[in-house]
Amino acid sequence: MAVRHALTAQSREPGSLDGRLLTPEHPGFDDARRAWNLSVDQRPAAVATATSAEDVITAVDLAKDLGLRVAAQGTGHGAAALGALEDTMLVKTDRMRGVHVDPSTRVVRVEAGVTWAEAVQGAGAHGLALLAGSAPDVGVVGYTLGGGLSWLGRKHGLACNNVEAIELVSAEGHLVRADPEREPDLFWALRGGGGSFGVVTAIELRALPITEIYAGALWWPIARGDEVMHCWRELAERGLPDELTTIGRYLRLPDLPEVPEPLRGRAFVLVEAFHLGDPAEADDLLAPLRALNPENDTIDSVAAQRLADLSLDPDHPVPAVGDGTMLTELPPEAIDTLQRIAGGGVDSPLLSVETRQLGGELARADAGHGVLSSIDARYAMYAVGIAPTPDAGQAVRRHLDHFQDEMKPWAATRMYLNFADTRRDPAALWSEHGYHRLCQIKQRLDPDDLIRSNHPVSPPSTSVAAI
Ligand SMILES: Cc1cc2nc3c(=O)[nH]c(=O)nc-3n(C[C@H](O)[C@H](O)[C@H](O)COP(=O)(O)OP(=O)(O)OC[C@H]3O[C@@H](n4cnc5c(N)ncnc54)[C@H](O)[C@@H]3O)c2cc1C
Repeated sequence: MAVRHALTAQSREPGSLDGRLLTPEHPGFDDARRAWNLSVDQRPAAVATATSAEDVITAVDLAKDLGLRVAAQGTGHGAAALGALEDTMLVKTDRMRGVHVDPSTRVVRVEAGVTWAEAVQGAGAHGLALLAGSAPDVGVVGYTLGGGLSWLGRKHGLACNNVEAIELVSAEGHLVRADPEREPDLFWALRGGGGSFGVVTAIELRALPITEIYAGALWWPIARGDEVMHCWRELAERGLPDELTTIGRYLRLPDLPEVPEPLRGRAFVLVEAFHLGDPAEADDLLAPLRALNPENDTIDSVAAQRLADLSLDPDHPVPAVGDGTMLTELPPEAIDTLQRIAGGGVDSPLLSVETRQLGGELARADAGHGVLSSIDARYAMYAVGIAPTPDAGQAVRRHLDHFQDEMKPWAATRMYLNFADTRRDPAALWSEHGYHRLCQIKQRLDPDDLIRSNHPVSPPSTSVAAI
């Protein structure tokens, strides 16, 4: 109640959030607190919906006055790891949707609530491409702060290492610009360190002069999983050029009206491919897979503007339980294990189990990069199931745990933040030196740990889990 009274008083003041600050007693609170991931029932003390950097400053100042912490959220794709929010004001940025493209410098500036579909469309209108992820409605900011694994990453690196500048509201309530000259330490921390260092209001991305890619998927019924996945593994292990990225995937499509008729209710094994350059080169490399006579072959030249919707990821909120695993190697036995867990004939609640090929530029560290300079693992796996009820969620979680246990012999010690839907030890997300430096930066900027992230960096003075 005290929070509500304080908010009511605040909303009459000039420069206030004008009714966009809600507590549980307000009508509309349930809509405001909802995350993209509908299986996450987040219950913050208050929700502030910002439309500008000034709104964010107002929200941060007010949260401090009320003794609340602050969690920024663009979409809620990463909400599963956020934890309980009863002492927290959720600052939603989904109404901050500005995209500005400067074709002369190839810099694309997006506000904090912009999704990949919007950013890719904006850049594409000027013949430019961005390092978007697989889902059109993932937020550019959360994705980039966590690293950013794109289909073009083997050629061009992590999205976070293709950033010119980031603007944020600090825990002190100041608007700060971080780039290589101003606030270089903060700029380093934001590129792979996640959302612990302030509420980001805008980010400036370096775009690439790419208008077309050769991309799509080869589809077989899931019963062909064994031969297809082994063939894909041999191809991926052969040392493909950085221009080509491939993914081996099991996909069980639900029997729902939004799934197109020929696919609805069916299970497949797929190889997705994304190639920059001459399609004939990709065709040569993919020939062994095509020799397995896929039921469907959608690989073709497509406009780079479609980059964010080439995968079959949903473009709307869903109740999902998922998690990732990074692999250092992928021997034939790992494929046999995958087949046992996710292949045909298995009663699996997992909608999708994908294994993405990494390497190339993603594995090359550089002194100019952020804290996530490179990814050592050679493959990134992500598995997810639909969880419309808590019981269904628990069934998916049990399957995920089993899946992660079985893949342990080939698992990397370091996890990729964006694919971690459960809290991990910081030692699993960052190097020891990297985490130490992140903690020092957090201590300087936010000693009281006001700003909380789904994968937090804590100031050493408050940290209980120092490594
Ligand atoms: C269907 C699906 C497909 C995906 N595909 C990919 C992929 O191809 N590649 C990849 O790398 N990842 C992928 N991801 C993971 C995704 O990048 C992470 O979940 C990411 O955190 C989502 O960012 P968001 O802003 O959409 O989510 P949110 O839940 O809104 O944000 C996640 C976290 O980011 C931080 N954050 C967000 N906005 C701000 C802000 N304004 N200021 C400060 N911190 C902020 C916060 O710490 C927040 O807890 C995918 C996830 C899903 C569900």
